[in-house]
Amino acid sequence: MITYNLEMKLFKSSKFLIIILLMLMVGYYLILKKDDYKDLKNKAVASQSDSSSPKKSSAETKNNIAFPLDTAKSIDFLMGKFNPAKDTSFTLVDPEYASGVDFYLLKTTYKAFMQMFYAAQHDGVKLQIISATRNFTYQKNIWEQKWTGGRIVDGKNLAKTEPDHQKRAEIILKYSSMPGTSRHHWGTDVDLNNMNDSYFTGATGKKVYDWLCANAARYGFCQPFNSKKMRQNGYEEEKWHWSYLPLSKCFLEQYQRKVHYDDIKGFAGSETAEKLDVIKNYVLSINKDCY
Ligand SMILES: [Zn+2]
Repeated sequence: MITYNLEMKLFKSSKFLIIILLMLMVGYYLILKKDDYKDLKNKAVASQSDSSSPKKSSAETKNNIAFPLDTAKSIDFLMGKFNPAKDTSFTLVDPEYASGVDFYLLKTTYKAFMQMFYAAQHDGVKLQIISATRNFTYQKNIWEQKWTGGRIVDGKNLAKTEPDHQKRAEIILKYSSMPGTSRHHWGTDVDLNNMNDSYFTGATGKKVYDWLCANAARYGFCQPFNSKKMRQNGYEEEKWHWSYLPLSKCFLEQYQRKVHYDDIKGFAGSETAEKLDVIKNYVLSINKDCY
């Protein structure tokens, strides 16, 4: 009987030990499985971040450097087909800085111009805006007046003296852009003080021009139509025309990509635009420092 009890106790305690051992094994197995799962999860996260990082950085490069989102513009904008008075990114220029009361500029351009204006004033130079944003309709009016003889060009009525359309366009293009191809469409460009070259060779004009050449770049402004000695093609030199480069170079880059000859139409003589390759020979033929 005693032997039986002893055997039973031993049996029970070994059974108990086996159960404990089994539980330990199961527990150990579960811990190992959990570690395996952790490893898999870590690897997945790592591979996810590996594959997403380059995508993110290339998108950032594309958005922030090559084509900034806040300066992306439509073909209509680039061609001046809008009303600056109704565009909230534009502002009316205070007559204090201008010769007229109906001039508009992009707000960013205006702010930069005012900084330049006061710096010039401090140095005894008076800057005055005599032309600012001109939309397609405005430019079409200038162009067609010259085209039809309503406005005399170099003492001539071109409608009478120049029957060849291509040659007539070339004469007007010395100083005036075709509608849809003017930098004045963009709200970044201004004409300052006087639109005659003779003014800038006189004492006052020379002082203004010398000051601009020495200081305008500090405020972001550049003279796109510099001396013809520095350019193959394009408009004659305009010492009065200055462009706010941080924006205008973005718009020029977009113009080059987006605007085609099919878009340049809707005015007298527009058929000459492609023949004269005005995008290459005028829009893009500017001071290399203004790119
Ligand atoms: Zn101009």
